[in-house]
Parts: sequence; C-alpha cells; structure tokens
Amino acid sequence: MVATLLRDDPAADVLIVERGDDVGGTWRSNTYPGAACDVPSALYSFSFAPESGWKRAHGTQAEIYAYLRRVAREQGITQRTMFGCALRDAQWDGDRARWVVSTSRGDLTADVLIAATGALSTPTLPKVPGLEMFRGTMFHSAEWNHDHDLTGKRVAVIGTGASAIQFVPSIVDKVEHLTLFQRTASWVMPKRDHGIASSVRSLYRRFPLIQKVVRGAVYSQKEMYVVGMTKPFARKYALPLFEKRARSVLRKQVPDPELRDRLTPDFAITCKRILLSNDWFPAITRRNVDVVSSALTSATENGVVDAAGNEYPVDTIIFGTGFTPSEPPVAQHVRGEHGRSLAEVWNGSPSAHLGISVNGFPNLFLMYGPNTNLGHSSIVYMLESQAAYIADA
Ligand SMILES: Cc1cc2nc3c(=O)[nH]c(=O)nc-3n(C[C@H](O)[C@H](O)[C@H](O)COP(=O)(O)OP(=O)(O)OC[C@H]3O[C@@H](n4cnc5c(N)ncnc54)[C@H](O)[C@@H]3O)c2cc1C
Repeated sequence: MVATLLRDDPAADVLIVERGDDVGGTWRSNTYPGAACDVPSALYSFSFAPESGWKRAHGTQAEIYAYLRRVAREQGITQRTMFGCALRDAQWDGDRARWVVSTSRGDLTADVLIAATGALSTPTLPKVPGLEMFRGTMFHSAEWNHDHDLTGKRVAVIGTGASAIQFVPSIVDKVEHLTLFQRTASWVMPKRDHGIASSVRSLYRRFPLIQKVVRGAVYSQKEMYVVGMTKPFARKYALPLFEKRARSVLRKQVPDPELRDRLTPDFAITCKRILLSNDWFPAITRRNVDVVSSALTSATENGVVDAAGNEYPVDTIIFGTGFTPSEPPVAQHVRGEHGRSLAEVWNGSPSAHLGISVNGFPNLFLMYGPNTNLGHSSIVYMLESQAAYIADA
C-alpha cells in the first residue's frame, strides 16, 4: 500500500522484499477449506481499488487472493517485488543514517525500512511433549496439506478460534471422527453472508458511488461495537444485548445443556474477538464429533492426550492454533540505534507510537504493528490509514 501511494513520487525508490512466491500474504497462505473473510468485501478491500465483482457479501479466500493479485499487478507492485527473498536481519547504521538489511538473496541498504510482515503470518504450534513421536499426519491450518485426504480419518483439531470455526464445518462430513480440543470457548454470532445478485454487481460497476455508500454503511455498523466497548452507557446496555443474541444462538443450535455450558464463554462479549459463523455449532454437535474442554497436553505415537490424561487415538492432527502476534519474528531481527533488537526493547510487551514507530529505531515503520489488530472491523482499513501516515512521513 505504501508503494502504491508513493508510486508517482520521483524521490521514492521502493523495493519490496517478500519471502513467499507471490503477493497475497494471509490470503495466499491460508488455503484451508472454508477460508473466508469475516468482514464484508465492500470494506475488506482497498478504497482506491473498488471491486464490483464480489459474488458474496463476504469474500472467500480464492476471491480475495485473486483480487490482491489483480490490484498488485495493476498498481505495478508485482514488478517492484523481490519474491522468494526473506528479511534475515536489519541493523540501523547511525553514521550513515541508513538501514543495513540482510536478506536470503543478499544485502541491501535503505534510508527507510517498513516492516509489513503481518501480525498473523507465522503459524504457531503448541509446545507439548510427544509431538515429534506422532506417526500420523499433522499440519497447521495456515499450511494446509491438500495432498492428505481426510476421508474416513480420525482427526484431532486443536483450537477453536477464527480458523477452526471455518474449516471444521467443511471437513466434518468427510472424517470418520473428529476430536476437538477447546481451551477457551468463544462468543459466536451469526454471519450475515449472502450472495450478491448480478444486477447489484452491475449497478456497482456502473455507479461506483453506490458501493462507496455500502462501504460507509458497513464501516458505521462495525464501529457500533467500539461504542459498545468504550462508552460506559453503551457497555451497560448494548453489550448485554449482543450477549443475549449469542446465547440464543447457542440455545437453538446446541440442545445438550452440558455441552452448551462448556461452549459458553466465561468472559464478557467483546473481551476477545467475536467469531462469526452459521455452521459451527451444527458441525460440532454432530455424532462423529467429541468436544474436549482442555488444551492439548501431549501426544503419543498414535494419538493426543488431554489435561486429564485421557488419550484419543487419531490419524491426523490439525492445528488451528493461530499465530504469533505478540511475538512477531521480525522483532528479533531488527536492531536499532543501540544494537538492541525490537524484541529486546519490547521484552515481551510490544508497543509503538500509533502502533507504527518505536523510539530508538529511526526511520523504521511498522505496519499491523503492536496493538493495531481489530476484533470488530477491517484490517485493510487500518493498514490503509497506516500506509497514508508512512507515505506522508
Ligand atoms: C486465516 C485468517 C483470516 C483472517 N480474516 C480476517 C478478516 O476476516 N478480517 C480482517 O480484517 N482481517 C483478517 N485477517 C487478518 C489479516 O492478516 C489482515 O487482514 C491482512 O491480510 C494483513 O495484511 P498484511 O499485509 O499486513 O500481512 P500478511 O497478509 O500476513 O502479509 C505479510 C507478508 O509478509 C511476508 N513476510 C513475513 N515475514 C517476512 C520476512 N522475514 N521476509 C520477507 N517477507 C516476510 C509474508 O510472507 C506475507 O506475505 C485474517 C488473518 C488470517 C490468518
């Protein structure tokens, strides 16, 4: 995005370094069945590149990936990117007022370094004993093994977060048995997804202003959550209404009171990301699914073990265990004025001015930096605001 904003600036010589073999980031990597966006595409898209062709309100992984590739091509981003090139190390050289950057394809220097390495781009696996002994197949949802046929398999899914809630309903019919490890229950609200008629798409194409109005409406509706979270009056009256709605979904979709109890969060709604789904509870209440209310504590050659020591024999383990937003790997590799890395300065508690810049790291800008993740709206909107700030600087 910064490269797009600086495209016509003759003073800006921008090179993008990408460890993958294509653009797309999140939407290139997360190809698991059912992968889709939680935010309507009218808002989960760049304001400078509206797309009238979305077939559903919420884009699927394939649609968003195709959109990102098209925009990157049209904006000349692909040509400015060195693919298959990982940033290894970056050190601020105060004498020359430059960043000295080491990559897997050689060294570079730069006046300005922008770390746009994504808060959710490095998958994390639980550190439990025995995983190295497991004889079946295991993979993380962000590195889905499409060559592994799940038909008739006994599968353990670890985690019940935003990814698991999407892929479990897509695989539950195929597998013989699914054991779901839930460490923390999440609040789940219905996903208001729907198809977009071709007449509406052509209206958007002919009158882009209409789509802009829809974008504004989606933004405003999402921001209502912020009012609910931050204003005491709204917190008192609006949040209980959200919670009531979520509880009524649970009541309707989970008839067994014991299971319903285990699937009910013990924290107020909005304290953690609200998950959106229409098929999660119907999927996990199926006969071939067991919900284990425990973290994974160890693995054996043939199965997985819960906190009470019960072993579940499985052929496949799928980790829906998320990413490393509070310990971004890039923080270990970027060293500022005094030779200390971001990770050392942060000491386990990342912070940055506006989530973008850090004292002692001149001319370094972070995108999707500390505390800029959202639980209620579009990260693309957030990233565009950060890109505008950085381009301005
Ligand atoms: C499964 C999933 C679903 C999501 N759904 C939503 C949603 O519904 N709504 C929402 O708003 N957000 C969602 N997000 C958040 C999503 O990450 C952001 O919306 C957005 O894609 C972030 O873009 P980014 O460019 O900052 O990071 P990314 O898309 O993560 O891109 C970072 C890029 O940096 C590269 N990189 C990382 N380290 C290095 C290195 N050392 N050297 C070179 N390259 C490197 C990576 O390969 C990657 O291509 C979701 C995330 C995931 C994982």
